[in-house]
Amino acid sequence: MNQHCDVIIVGSGLSGLSVARFLHEKQPELKVILLEKEGRAGGAVQSFKQEGFRAEWGPHGFLDNCPEGQELIRLAGLAGRVQKAPLGQFARYLCQQGRLVALPQQPQKFLFSPILSPMAKLRLLGDLWIRPILTEQAIGQWAGRRFGKAILPLVDAAITGSFAGDYQRLSMDAVMPGVRNLEKQHGSVLRGLLRKRKAGGGKSPGLPAMQNFPNGMEELTASLARGKEIRFQCQADAIARDNNGWIVQTGTEQLLGRRLVLALPVNAALPLLTPLSPPPMSEIPVARIANLVMGFAGVDIPKAFGFLAPEQENRFCMGAMFSSAMFPDRAPSPMVLLEALVGGRRHPERLELTDDELARRAYDDLKQLLPLPAPPRFVQVLRPASGIPQLEMGHVNLLAWRDDLHARHPDLHVTGFGWDGIGMNEMIKHASLVARAIADDLRAGPTPAEVRPVYF
Ligand SMILES: Cc1cc2nc3c(=O)[nH]c(=O)nc-3n(C[C@H](O)[C@H](O)[C@H](O)COP(=O)(O)OP(=O)(O)OC[C@H]3O[C@@H](n4cnc5c(N)ncnc54)[C@H](O)[C@@H]3O)c2cc1C
Repeated sequence: MNQHCDVIIVGSGLSGLSVARFLHEKQPELKVILLEKEGRAGGAVQSFKQEGFRAEWGPHGFLDNCPEGQELIRLAGLAGRVQKAPLGQFARYLCQQGRLVALPQQPQKFLFSPILSPMAKLRLLGDLWIRPILTEQAIGQWAGRRFGKAILPLVDAAITGSFAGDYQRLSMDAVMPGVRNLEKQHGSVLRGLLRKRKAGGGKSPGLPAMQNFPNGMEELTASLARGKEIRFQCQADAIARDNNGWIVQTGTEQLLGRRLVLALPVNAALPLLTPLSPPPMSEIPVARIANLVMGFAGVDIPKAFGFLAPEQENRFCMGAMFSSAMFPDRAPSPMVLLEALVGGRRHPERLELTDDELARRAYDDLKQLLPLPAPPRFVQVLRPASGIPQLEMGHVNLLAWRDDLHARHPDLHVTGFGWDGIGMNEMIKHASLVARAIADDLRAGPTPAEVRPVYF
């Protein structure tokens, strides 16, 4: 059976749902159909609740410093339900030589922090004189050259907290194109930042807040999905161009749409796109993690987001979130909830361990850093099905290939997890561009490169 519509969106994760919602706001008369291979909407966004504990399989929050993200919350009708944990009030810790050290949240505090030696701080200024290398750079190599090797554990921690990745393999140009642009335009990142600040009137935007909802992150995707025409258990198997638009083949039917949006993780989109043009790579690496949800009694945890451990610390956990410190309703009083992350790009073998073994080793690790005199009373090991796409060296070629496809097929839009980034705000921002391009009958270009904050 053939079905006609204005816009077909493949994927009902945050990206697909955001495109649909922004589009509805601009052109409510359009007939939009979403195709979803699973039986639920939301993709990687999925919340967990058991015995009064609330945790997350996927994202634990997103910052409130992205206008498109804030607009989406408003459109989802959730403006009054947002819970916020401001960065100014919640510390972030780094594991340094086996103990937790508070990370300075502002540049001026950084100057007086013991986290780097005076020599290492002075070396940061080397950035002002080091000439940019124009070819694609791995993050570790780039940061070490510009700012000195002492900064690398901090960079590693930031990358672990967002990508669960390996900073020696991730591409600086793909992960932080905005910072690379500053460096290339001004000959130095620091000089570029100073000029950008001056151009903005010298005001610093202030520290953002981490956001979540009383029923977890899933509250956002569930609200966005409400009232949408979503075909569940409906996998797109193939796409093809037709004189009138795009044909999407599913197991049971063919859909015809004037516009097609693939709102999918890179590795789900590539097989659909390959017949149109062979991509420079058949897949990209993903980092899988396990989230150990642990409820403790009689424990005082610091008022903080949590901590991150750089690889050189040789710890079992990549870090842990102090979830009930950020959002007190995450644990039944007087318990506290910690969520520890294990695995990632560097240690996929740890995910082979049984739940009991994971829980035991995570507790052994955490109790060396935090006052946890007794094992957790509640433990649940979450193993998210979604891996985190890695924008490693060569990713810029994939993006150039994707942009070339857009140029040849302006009515085909490719967005989603792992293309222009991995964070929720990046997904929402690009979804907004796609919706605007469809509404304006223009093609969506790549997300404008900007200096992105780290979301952990
Ligand atoms: C463990 C983990 C932790 C994270 N933590 C954070 C965080 O703290 N903060 C943050 O900002 N971001 C975080 N993220 C990233 C965030 O979850 C993603 O940015 C976002 O969820 C991606 O949404 P998406 O719609 O692009 O992709 P997905 O969520 O993967 O959705 C894609 C959808 O498409 C469907 N699909 C796939 N193939 C097909 C097909 N052929 N036909 C039909 N449907 C198909 C899938 O079933 C899925 O529902 C995290 C991600 C993970 C995995």
